[in-house]
This record gives sequence, structure tokens and C-alpha cells, in this order.
Amino acid sequence: MNTNAKAQERKNYINGQFSGSSKQFTKVSPVDGSVVALVHEADRAQVDAAVQAARLALKGHWGRMSLQDRVEMLRAIAGGIERRFDDFVAAEVADTGKPVALASHLDIPRGAANFRVFADIVRTYGMDSYFLDTPDGKGAVNYAMRKPLGVVGVIAPWNLPLLLLTWKLAPALACGNCVVAKPSEETPSTATLLAEVMNEVGVPPGVYNVVHGFGPNSAGEFITSHPGVDAITFTGESATGSAIMKAVAPGVKPISFELGGKNPGIVFADCDFDAAVAGMANAIFSNCGQVCLAPERVYVERPIFERFVAGLKQKAEAYVIGWPSDAKTNMGPLISKQHREKVLSYYALAKEEGATVVSGGGVPTFGDARDSGCYVQPTLWTGLPEDSRTVKEEIFGPCAHIAPFDDEEQAIAMANNSRYGLAATVWTTNLSRGHRVAQAMECGIAWVNCWFLRDLRTPFGGAKLSGIGREGGLHSLNFYSEPTNVCIKL
Ligand code: NAD
Repeated sequence: MNTNAKAQERKNYINGQFSGSSKQFTKVSPVDGSVVALVHEADRAQVDAAVQAARLALKGHWGRMSLQDRVEMLRAIAGGIERRFDDFVAAEVADTGKPVALASHLDIPRGAANFRVFADIVRTYGMDSYFLDTPDGKGAVNYAMRKPLGVVGVIAPWNLPLLLLTWKLAPALACGNCVVAKPSEETPSTATLLAEVMNEVGVPPGVYNVVHGFGPNSAGEFITSHPGVDAITFTGESATGSAIMKAVAPGVKPISFELGGKNPGIVFADCDFDAAVAGMANAIFSNCGQVCLAPERVYVERPIFERFVAGLKQKAEAYVIGWPSDAKTNMGPLISKQHREKVLSYYALAKEEGATVVSGGGVPTFGDARDSGCYVQPTLWTGLPEDSRTVKEEIFGPCAHIAPFDDEEQAIAMANNSRYGLAATVWTTNLSRGHRVAQAMECGIAWVNCWFLRDLRTPFGGAKLSGIGREGGLHSLNFYSEPTNVCIKL
């Protein structure tokens, strides 16, 4: 294993101070296997200290801060991220290996945007009020007030580290909560840089705490089982969501879960063919397929099936897999050796299950340090039965199975035949069909003629195994606050 001369220490951030731990683990680059960070793993006492700091901050300056001042603080955090944009891009790229272009255009700008958007949203939405008629004719006035939930545990995954952390952190802070955050063990860096930004812009100690570590018997479990944590918001695998549900059950705490997916893409013969091929390729392969919303099941209307498969194959084979810093690179590695083993096990399984490999199916070779990285080829299959494991289970890699359908009803049935229900994308130029099919999808988000287009005010989340609850806009405020209804008899 190489040790990168620039390997960073990533410490916990508790009560406004960076704090080391007696136990550390290394974070390895998925590009070439070099060590990019030495991460301090928080023990139970450190997680407890983070929770206590958050509780104190709730009672202190943060709890007493006016909404206007809190909103200004959120904007200052966004500005702080933007001022250190290059540091954030470098840290995200070092941890994930994703192309610099992707981190620069998506991850880091959205990280800053999340703070600005929720600063606006929390100032925009009030709560309902009602006048109630009473038998004496004088009536009563009801109005509801939002209060913070308290201390929120934020547990984030590795695929879009800053983007997904701040998607939960920003509304939690906007609503006046304090946070104990745990980034993924695979991506400890941008959450730690964010702590530096919080320090720089004057966020009071204890409002944002970062603890590093793993799930079971580590920081993740210490947060979810801590009696001083009032709510848990989590993005990650469905099986992890289930384990967290068990951990929080004794405290009957609010949970918000954004979980896995096995998303369908439906392509009708009347689509704008070139736009559909390009749009589906982007949806399948972006971020090396490590996007919860990516379609791993593609259904194409039979008259254009062969042509569409050929079009997707051409796109897959045009991907430039390479160094993140190379401007031509549009596909990086998977996140880790362990994840690559999982994805490659599905590449093998697909063949065992009888798939025709249309494209890829293996590992690229470079003849340099990248051969020690976690790269795989973008991969397409056809010919599998709908009940095969490859078509049923989330792989989370740059791959998809493509199957033909004969009519709209069949396409809807095939798309909905899943235990997951996160997202769908539908391609058609028939407006009525677009609405009809999108509305029939058993999932949280249905796109027509696009993918990943997000207005951050809209509800985001999944049905079935893909999650519990919705976040985004007012939906986030509803999760991160506890309303009290006040009823005044006149
Ligand atoms: P993961 O579930 O393995 O880990 C997510 C986080 O949970 C990490 O920080 C991990 O350390 C922590 N964790 C693991 N076990 C825990 C436990 N028992 N208690 C507390 N914390 C625990 O997920 P991942 O591999 O990091 O991310 C990939 C998964 O996330 C995929 O399934 C993907 O679909 C899903 N995802 C969903 C969305 C969404 O919005 N629905 C977005 C991104 C990713």
C-alpha cells in the first residue's frame, strides 16, 4: 500500500474543538490504493461528549438566537464553503476518486446551495392557524409554532458525501436543532472541512459536531442508541435502515430514512431517441453508477429495443475511465475494494443467471498505479428473467439490465415489480402518457424526459424499502421541527 505524502489527519469535532482518538483507521484512495487520510475513530465517550455539547448549545446561544441571525449564519456557512471551494473539491475527490469535474459541478456547489436554500425556506413557511367556533359564540384561536426537535443524529453515506450530509444538516440547523453528524468511514474529509468552516464563520460550539467511525459497535451505533439524541436522519442501505430502526425503537424517536433503490427507466418508442439514449446513459453511469436514483433496470418498447441497446452500448464504450484530475475523465473508480468485490460478484452472477453481456463486464487495465484502484467497466446486460437476482437486487455500480416491453400496461407492471420504490425515469414525447406512467410509478420521484433534475423545495424520498418520510422544502421543516399547537379561548 502506498502512503500518500499528502495524507490528512481527520479528527472528530466536538464542542467546537478538534479532538483526536486513541484508535485510528486509514482511508485509502480508490484510485490507486494510497493512504489519503488517517481518521480518528470516536469512542463511546467522545460520542457522548458530542451529544452533551449539542444539548448545552441548544440551551445556550444557539437556542436563543433569533431566526434572522440563524438564517444569516446558514448563509455564512454557504459562503465559507464557497471560499474554500478548491479545498472541498480536492478532499471529496481524494476520498471518492470521482472526476474533479463532477465534484466541482455537483457535489460542492450543492453542498453550499443546501444552506442557502434552507435559509430561504425556513424564512418563508409559517404554520397553520384556525379560528374555532365555540358554543358561547366567542370562539378560540389556534396557531401552531415550530420548535426544534433537539439533538439530531445525522448519518451519511459515501456516494455524494458533502451533498447528502448538508441536505440533512442544513434544514436541521435551520430549524434550530444541534447536530451530531457521522460521515461514512469511506468519506471522512468534507464533513471535517465543514467543521473548520463552522469555526471560521462563528457557529457556536456544540451546534455541529462530527464523530468519525463505522456503524455497529462504533460511532454510528453510539449515536443511534444514545438517549440524548432526539431524532435520527439517515441515508444509506435499506438493511442499515432496518438496523437503525431497531436501535432507536426503545426511545420511540422520529426517523427519516433515504435508502436504497433498484430504479426503473422506461423508454417508449415515441421518445426523442437521441435524448433518451444520452439521458439514460447519464443516469446509469454518473458517479460510476453510485447514485441511489440510478436506473439499474431499463425497459424499452420492442420496436426500438435493438436500436436502443446499440445506442446505450455505444455510450457505455465511450466513457473515459481514468484519473479524477484529467479533464477528459467522466468515470472514476468505485468507492472501495470491498464495494468493487460486491459489484464484480454481480457481474459474475449476471453471467451465471444467463445474461447476454452487451458491454463491459470486467475490470479495465491501465498499466500504472490505477491497477491497484477500484475501477470497473460500465456494463450492460440483456436477456435476464425479471425474477433474477441481478434484476431484483441493488448493485450500486455502473450497470443496468435492459429488457423489452410491448405496451404501457406491461411497462408499468414491470417497473413496479420491485421491493424498492425510490425513483423512476420515463422517456416519451406523448404528454398524456408521460403524466399517466409517471403517476402510476410506485416510488417517491418520477422524472419524465429527464433524470436527477431537482428543485430542492419538492418532496424527496422513497416508498417501500427505499425509505420512510420525505425531505425537501417544507417536508424537511416538518421533519426537523416539533410543532406545538396553541389554542386560545377568546
Ligand atoms: P451504508 O448503509 O453502508 O452506510 C451509511 C452510513 O451508515 C455510514 O455512515 C455507515 O457508517 C453508517 N452505518 C452503517 N451501519 C450502521 C449502524 N448499524 N448504525 C448506525 N450507522 C450505521 O450505506 P453506504 O454504503 O454508505 O451507501 C450506499 C447506500 O446508500 C446505497 O444503498 C444507496 O442506494 C443508499 N443511498 C440512498 C440515497 C437516498 O436518497 N435514498 C442516497 C444515497 C445513497
